Order: sequence, then C-alpha cells, then structure tokens
Amino acid sequence: MPTILETIQARDPHEREFFQAVTEVIESVKPVLDQNPQYRRAAVVERIVEPERIVTFRVPWLDDQGNVKVNRGYLVEMNSAIGPYKSGLRFHPSVNQSILKFLAFEQVFKNALTTLPLGGGAGGSDFDPKGKSDDEMMRFCQNFMTELYLHIGANTDIVAGDIGVGSREIGYLFGMFKKLNNEFTGALTGKGLNWGGSLIRAQAAGYGCVYFAAEMLATRNMTFEGQTCLVSGSGNVAQHSAEKLIEMGAKVATFSDSSGYIYDSDGIDPEKLAFVKVLKNVRRGRIQEYADKYTTAVYTPVDHSLDYNPLWSHRAACAFPCATQNEIAEKDAYNLINNNVKLVCEGANMPCTPEATDIFLDKPLLYAPGKAANAGGVAVSGLEMVQNSMRLNWLGEEVDQRLKIIMKGIHKSCLDAAEAYGTPGNYLNGANITGFVKVAEAMLDQGVV
Ligand code: NAP
Repeated sequence: MPTILETIQARDPHEREFFQAVTEVIESVKPVLDQNPQYRRAAVVERIVEPERIVTFRVPWLDDQGNVKVNRGYLVEMNSAIGPYKSGLRFHPSVNQSILKFLAFEQVFKNALTTLPLGGGAGGSDFDPKGKSDDEMMRFCQNFMTELYLHIGANTDIVAGDIGVGSREIGYLFGMFKKLNNEFTGALTGKGLNWGGSLIRAQAAGYGCVYFAAEMLATRNMTFEGQTCLVSGSGNVAQHSAEKLIEMGAKVATFSDSSGYIYDSDGIDPEKLAFVKVLKNVRRGRIQEYADKYTTAVYTPVDHSLDYNPLWSHRAACAFPCATQNEIAEKDAYNLINNNVKLVCEGANMPCTPEATDIFLDKPLLYAPGKAANAGGVAVSGLEMVQNSMRLNWLGEEVDQRLKIIMKGIHKSCLDAAEAYGTPGNYLNGANITGFVKVAEAMLDQGVV
C-alpha cells in the first residue's frame, strides 16, 4: 500500500513546493499519529492534504496601449475546520497551483497557531506587477475581483496581501468587491486606515517575526543589542523586520530584491530605511539605488551561475530570510554556520530548502519556521476582522500589545509541543504539531466532510 506521500506525489507529480511543505509537516507529526490512532482511523492526514476547493479562472485586462492581456487567477481553499478561510493573495509570474497549494497548506497551521478561529487558503495570479502603471494595476485588480468576489466574504474567505499585493492593490480589490456586493464588509484585510483597516497591520508580519526571534534569544539570555543581522527582500516583511530590529538595537546590514542585494557596512539606520520605503513602496524602484545613494553600501547583482547567494556569506549573528520560498539552500546554510550565526528566523514562507533546514536543526542554533515566526501578519488581520465586526478602531499601542502577546503565546506553544513530543527546542516540530492537533481535533469533531 503506498504511503500518503507516495500517493500525493503520484497524484500531482509536478507540485514540488506543495510536496515539500507537506513532507515537512508529515515528518513532524509522525509521533502524534503514533500516539493518537484516532487520527489515522479518521484519515485526517489524507484529508488535510487535499484542498477543500480550488478555483482557477481567466483574468483578461487592458494594458495602457489598449492591448488585451490574459492572466490566470487562482483560489485554493485548503481547510475551514477551525474558521473561515483566511487567504493571502500573491501576484507574481512564478505563481502556479503548486505554489498556492503550499502557501494555503502552510496557512492552515499558521492560522491555527495564532489561536484565532481562522481556516487557511491562498490565492493569486501569475500577473507580474513589475513595470505596470497604476492604471494597469487597477484594471487588473478589478478584473481579478470580478471572479474572486463569488468565492470570498467576511464569513467565508477573507483575503489579504502577500508578494506583489500591498496597500495599493488591496484598495483596488476592495473597491471592486464593494461595488459588486453593494455592501461594505470586511472580506479583505490590510485595508486603508480610514476605510476599515487596522493600525499595525502593515507592520505586523515583520514586527511579529522580530518579537518571536527576541523570545528565542531570551531562552539563551541574549538580546538584539549590537547584533549584526542579515535581512533578505525589501518588501513589506523585510522593511518591518528591519525597522523593529533597528529599534531593538541590532545592526541590519542587508536588503535585497530579485535583481541583487546591498550590504551596508555601517548598518541601515532609520533614515536609510525611510529611503528604502519610498524607493520600494512609492517609486517602485530597484534596491541597487540604495548603493547609488549611500557610499557605505555595496551592491551585488544576482549571479545565476552561483549555487549560493552571497548575501548569506556575510558574518552575522542573525539571519532573517524575508523574500520568498527556497532562498536559503544547502551551501547558504553552511556559509551562515561557518560565520557563526546564532539565529535563523523565517520572515518569508518556507525560505529554507529541506536540506538547509536539516543543517540548521542539526546544530545548536535557534531556527524558527515561517509558519510560526511570520504569523503576526495574519494575527493582526484577524484583529482587523474583530475591529470591523465591532465597528471600532483600536489604538496602535493596543494592537501592538496584542501582537506581542500572540507571538509570545506561539513561541511558548511551539516549545511546549516540541518538548512534549521528545524534540525539545525544535521549533519546527513544535509549530507543526501544535497547528496540526488543533485542526485535527476540529476535523474529528465535525465528521467526514
Ligand atoms: P513583497 O512586499 O511583495 O516583497 C517581496 C520581496 O521579495 C521583494 O523585495 C521582492 O523583490 C523579493 N522577491 C520576491 N520574489 C523573489 C524571488 N523569486 N527572488 C528574489 N527575490 C524575490 O512581499 P512580502 O509581503 O514582503 O512577502 C515576503 C514573504 O513573506 C513571502 O514569502 C510571503 O509569503 C511572506 N509573508 C508575508 C506576509 C504579509 O503580511 N505580507 C505575512 C506572512 C508571510 P522584487 O521586487 O524584485 O520581486
């Protein structure tokens, strides 16, 4: 009889990212399954790896020259056992069903970890936002929503941003959603502050990631004061991770985008970070411009002939991969370790390959998986939903305080579960087990549906 993993691979042999995400969870929860035969009897794993629903659709739109363009839209609704789906939307040319299934799968466990009643999903399109005008972006978002609105809603599926979907795109998407429904409801999060958004939502994934990392360091009586940190990416999660790290006294030395990275030997200070925010969020330029402006920085373009990323070869105590999946491979992991890294905290989803993850887990360093460390983003999305339901806005300090409490709670539950199942200090097992048990129990309660 084939194993679950063999069945998944035979069914969807091209879905590499999804297979990678599922393999990691199944390996982590094996002791839970061995001790709880009811999960195997009810085929919980077989059901949890199969999306409840996948929708794919055509997104035609007009570019500024009047040409008709066609992209593919997706919505993967993975699991709604503990609450309505909460899906991130990604617009990037690499988007396909495998990437969205992996993101949706990760989201199920992440959302369970937050302790909020949220199921998991993911959506998006292979549309490339790079080089598009505001008008093109608006037309694309509006056309995308003319199908998506059929499937989402405040009690069904609540969508938020991911790569390529920031506040501008959420605005265009929400405008069309509201028009089509003739109703102002909270089916999207990450909204503008004067139309239903929450303070700290934009900062939440990055800040939460650093709060989680600070908890990890505290277990070894360490703080960020004076520690050099490498951050990859220069989008939402990277910017706000860097912001909180700087605030906590760390020296942030790097930022990157898909063209290359900058290394600033003097460290990125608040003024330089403000420059990056305008560069990336307003002018939508390339990170290379940072090195043109600040002579303390060196820019290195991506070299596809290398089997490692030189960003991870710099000496640093902490590494925060905040760009995309599989950006730290085996050689990068060894480079970090040879430079005495103490902590690797995933701001992005699944940024470490399985080989890199195994190398980190084998060493006495602190390693946090994205589904735990970057859960602050969805947690504050959940708090935005609460505020929308109550029709009031909390102060920024109140949201930030709740975010800190949630991240502290996730950190503790990861450590407790890792310890209970015989792998103390293994945050990966702890996160997978905690999320799995919560969802599995709900699935048992609700019968075979
Ligand atoms: P974002 O604002 O769009 O920024 C993404 C950054 O990563 C950009 O600097 C981008 O560079 C870089 N990047 C994307 N694809 C890349 C690739 N294939 N190779 C190299 N660099 C690449 O997105 P984000 O919201 O910060 O998301 C970053 C990661 O965090 C993703 O893994 C996402 O799933 C995860 N995450 C996000 C949130 C959230 O609330 N936003 C919450 C939890 C987790 P270019 O501009 O050159 O593409």
